[in-house]
Amino acid sequence: MDYGPAPESDAEVRAWLATHKSSFGHFIGGSFVTGAKQIDTNEPATGKLLARIADGSKKDIDTAVSAARKAQGSWEKLGGHGRARHLYALARMLQRHARLFAVLESLDNGKPIRETRDLDVPLAVRHFYHHAGWAQLQDSELSAYKAIGVVGQIIPWNFPLLMLAWKVAPALAAGNTVVLKPAEFTPLTALLFAELAHKAGLPPGVLNVVTGEGATGASLVEHAGVDKIAFTGSTEVGRLIRKATAGTGKSLTLELGGKSPFIVFDDADLDGAVEGVVDAIWFNQGQVCCAGSRLLVQEGVAADFIKRLKRRMGKLRVGHPLDKAIDMGAIIDPIQLKRIGMLVDKGVAEGAEKFQPEITLPATGCFFPPTLLTNVETSSTVATEEIFGPVLVSMTFRTPDEAVMLANNSRYGLSASVWSETIGLALDIAPKLQCGVVWVNATNLFDAAVGFGGYRESGFGREGGREGIYEYLKLKAWAARKPKAVQRVAAEAEVKPNFDEPALDRTAKLFIGGKQARPDGNYSRAVLSPSGKIVGEVGEGNRKDIRNAVAAARAAEGWSKATAHNRAQILYYMAENLSARADEFASRIKAMTGTSKAKSEVEAAIQRLFSYGAWADKYDGAVHAPPLRGVALAMHEPLGVVGVICPDEAPLLGFISLISPLIAMGNRVVVVPSERHPLAATDFYQVLETSDVPAGVINIVTGGRDTLLKTLAEHDDVDGLWVFGSKENSASAEKLSTGNLKRTLVDHGLATDWYDTASSEGPVLLRHAVQVKNIWIPYGE
Ligand code: ADP
Repeated sequence: MDYGPAPESDAEVRAWLATHKSSFGHFIGGSFVTGAKQIDTNEPATGKLLARIADGSKKDIDTAVSAARKAQGSWEKLGGHGRARHLYALARMLQRHARLFAVLESLDNGKPIRETRDLDVPLAVRHFYHHAGWAQLQDSELSAYKAIGVVGQIIPWNFPLLMLAWKVAPALAAGNTVVLKPAEFTPLTALLFAELAHKAGLPPGVLNVVTGEGATGASLVEHAGVDKIAFTGSTEVGRLIRKATAGTGKSLTLELGGKSPFIVFDDADLDGAVEGVVDAIWFNQGQVCCAGSRLLVQEGVAADFIKRLKRRMGKLRVGHPLDKAIDMGAIIDPIQLKRIGMLVDKGVAEGAEKFQPEITLPATGCFFPPTLLTNVETSSTVATEEIFGPVLVSMTFRTPDEAVMLANNSRYGLSASVWSETIGLALDIAPKLQCGVVWVNATNLFDAAVGFGGYRESGFGREGGREGIYEYLKLKAWAARKPKAVQRVAAEAEVKPNFDEPALDRTAKLFIGGKQARPDGNYSRAVLSPSGKIVGEVGEGNRKDIRNAVAAARAAEGWSKATAHNRAQILYYMAENLSARADEFASRIKAMTGTSKAKSEVEAAIQRLFSYGAWADKYDGAVHAPPLRGVALAMHEPLGVVGVICPDEAPLLGFISLISPLIAMGNRVVVVPSERHPLAATDFYQVLETSDVPAGVINIVTGGRDTLLKTLAEHDDVDGLWVFGSKENSASAEKLSTGNLKRTLVDHGLATDWYDTASSEGPVLLRHAVQVKNIWIPYGE
């Protein structure tokens, strides 16, 4: 029996468009504002013009940012409960107009009405309800934090309303105001949302929508009045934004591309997994950043699985998005359609076998058939590039280890899907996958209570859940920091060494891979007292030393797998051994800095090590309760190898305060101690040697901060970078770390009070020492 067409009416949408004469300005300060220039937005399914929208200029962005700034103070002062009521009202508003939004989204984007109606809109609603809750709980649960201010948000065209909800709901809940730039292809649901939000009582200026193309987005990124940028889109543009915001103090979250593995073990429910593939790669025509686009099937079942999959592909229906009985709608734009076709041709040229089922596509409009490429090499273009279309590439593996290796063989790390009826196997694999979301025997599950976001070049930051709300808050204790009194003292230039002093009998070496190592260049630098006396010498590390240290840290991956109890024990040993030599450290600190607080600095350092010994097995993840039969485990995983630039202030306490949260959470570190006062760190080698710290977990390279920082920032095997130095150091850390999109934590040259626990101890830093992976485990028969 064949399906007949079951079209959804577009009458309401056409009526809404007609009230605006199908022509829109920006939505700024509570009303529509005409833009100087206009561009078209078309229906992908027919190619017909849907509406004209304004192409935002720098001036439009400026007007919107001013409106947002003006509204921010009173929005924040409204308090958690006041904002909760507004967010609740927005959820209700969306629900009331659910069908209007669903149809408009379908027309503007080309995606099936079944998806907008059953997924995009309900999930968007859920985000506003969930975040109404965070607003309500902000005073009690997030009292150490406050709103960031004015937030610029840039979203893509694949889930226009849902991405709006993911961004706008947490931002507004936390007390920020927003300037949103929707994608040029799909601006209409954002404009409808803004209009109806204001009818529902949202104060003017709290949410502003400026439409336009990439250049409009770039103006928003560059605007000095914006305190944070949240971006979802391509990795390429994500990198540009990281560079553009480097050193400005703007906070940043990036949700970027992916090439996610879909792993089928030989004991999987194969029919279930076939349905999973359909959802993973043909949902939204494959235009999904977390699409399961790389099928990895265990060899023994591969032929059978591919046969079943091909049969299923023959049943997929591609058609007009408003037809309720179709599985796949239109591709967003002819440009994208062409790109998909080119990539598929390239795959075939590189040796892949192409399968496309014998199904009919609409005669006009932007359509591409569901496509399977088999016989694909791991290095081929189609196996490594994000296609962003309905194209699945398939490979086989023999063992679980090989599956993990293939799965992780990507610069991205957004999501993965694991199919096996053996729960032990699936849960053994999930933590080994380098990505932010893992679905066990499922795919494309999303919820407002569960963080979503990537590892590696899929970006940083999370959207949803407790892990997501932090992205829209700033720590009150850090917000109060002042610029450092002395940004930079070039010791050599400003103080003359006193060469009348007796020659030193010992130059501290570097500490790499658990051993003291002579610096590669064989140079050393003098460490001076405040009066210019030489109090010691340390090795002058160079690029090669950093590279050796990174290799040693990379090799020490056993630390990331060690039990939290084990890591805690070692932190306690370090505290104990430091305590045994407290006087020696205190006199060293005094000799270098002249401080009268040397003893209390050592005491504070001991206490801090104890504190992280305590946290090591307590800063654990969460079990989220999304609305399904199942759970999502929000695991705290280490970043991997992290570079650390230590401050000159409190040379021992600063050093300990930065390395201990990182190693407590299972990271391995390459540390550059205070440039001026490095001897507290080099004396610490002996503490490390007597505390059973495994080789390579803590590597210390002394020398010039700027050079060593540059090498660390550019090193693609370094996953994170913490920089507590000058303003310029922070800027170059953010700018130079875009190659592999490192997670950075920088102080922008602001002085941290290392004695104040609220600003330098516990979850405030631990949060930056981990990345949250959410493992979804649906259960039931
Ligand atoms: P996609 O491949 O999903 O279209 P893009 O990264 O090109 O991803 O676009 C995502 C969003 O970023 C869109 O709203 C687009 O207009 C915007 N954008 C594109 N280029 C820039 C840029 N240089 N700066 C800021 N925003 C940009």
